[in-house]
Order: sequence, then C-alpha cells, then structure tokens
Amino acid sequence: MGNECTYCGSNIERHDPVFVNVGANTSTNQAGQFCNYACLATHIEEEGLTDGAACEWPC
Ligand SMILES: [Zn+2]
Repeated sequence: MGNECTYCGSNIERHDPVFVNVGANTSTNQAGQFCNYACLATHIEEEGLTDGAACEWPC
C-alpha cells in the first residue's frame, strides 16, 4: 500500500493521515488510509460500513 488516500487518491503525507484497521490494531489488518476524516467518513458511508452498527458509535 502506498501513501494514497483510499478514497480520493491524494497523497496522505501532505495532509493529516488517518489510518483504519479492521479487528486487531496491526498493520496487517489495515483496511484503508485517508488524507482526512472527511474522506474516511464518506468512504464508510459509501461502503455501507455503518449498517447495523450505528449504535456502536458515540452519539
Ligand atoms: Zn482523501
């Protein structure tokens, strides 16, 4: 995996990168990397990752 935002393809090193892991917090489970939280949030919405899990997020 390079240093491109999973969502928009921008170079994350030029921003404030956000890394996402699935399951255990290890690099081998990395699910994505985003140049900012806006890309992260949009990606999650478009992938439907919040389906059935809305109540697991702090309200
Ligand atoms: Zn981005």
